[in-house]
Amino acid sequence: MAHIVKFENVAKKYGNTLAVEDINLEVEPGEFVFLVGPSGAGKSTLLRLLAKEYAPSSGKILVFDKDISKIKSSNLPFYRRELGFVFQDFKLLDDRTVFENVAIALEVRNKTDEEIEKEVEKILKLFEIWNKRNLFPNQLSGGEAQRTAIARAIIGKPDLLLADEPTGDLDPQTSWGVIQLLNEINSWGTTVLMATHNAEIVNTLKRRVVSIRDGKIIKDKKEGRYEIH
Ligand code: ADP
Repeated sequence: MAHIVKFENVAKKYGNTLAVEDINLEVEPGEFVFLVGPSGAGKSTLLRLLAKEYAPSSGKILVFDKDISKIKSSNLPFYRRELGFVFQDFKLLDDRTVFENVAIALEVRNKTDEEIEKEVEKILKLFEIWNKRNLFPNQLSGGEAQRTAIARAIIGKPDLLLADEPTGDLDPQTSWGVIQLLNEINSWGTTVLMATHNAEIVNTLKRRVVSIRDGKIIKDKKEGRYEIH
């Protein structure tokens, strides 16, 4: 696979609001890319375009070397299953336990109950939330809920993980735990695209940083720092 993600001259308008424009971006397999920029810069829009929540107003988006505008709506669930999402509005289900929330991601993949049990146990232990497996989301701390959401996003071993402010509501220590997990997932081969405001995390990790401002990419650095000007 040459590119996990490629944006070609992409623009997206919401009504009259121009959210992003002139977006040209290529992401290769295995990269860890931070999207940084002030609130309203267009970071979420880029991730949501990749999720095919919206179509671009112009330009082309390739994911796994395929033009995603060609995906039929009937195939959209299959496409989305190849991605992992950690989005704030993609919440855990309140009436399911931690175990069940994570298991759902495998139930749609035609796995046997035995396989599901084994894989969910493995990931919950790895993420240190196995002892919370029978709790419901409202009984979890912010960090535990976020670890559950990440477990759900990656248990299907997606090639691409999209994370929108995954440390947004978390205290610094918990944020680091989440980042360590994302780093580890990346080291197993999953490409990670993460939108964030957290300068300290970005500056410590020294990964690729794509800076967005007013809907445009203003910087793209291999071992970048948090720079939004
Ligand atoms: P960021 O993630 O960097 O905070 P967004 O991608 O959410 O930025 O927003 C980019 C711009 O698009 C902002 O001006 C925002 O107000 C606008 N926008 C985002 N989503 C919508 C929407 N659903 N409807 C209308 N405008 C939107």
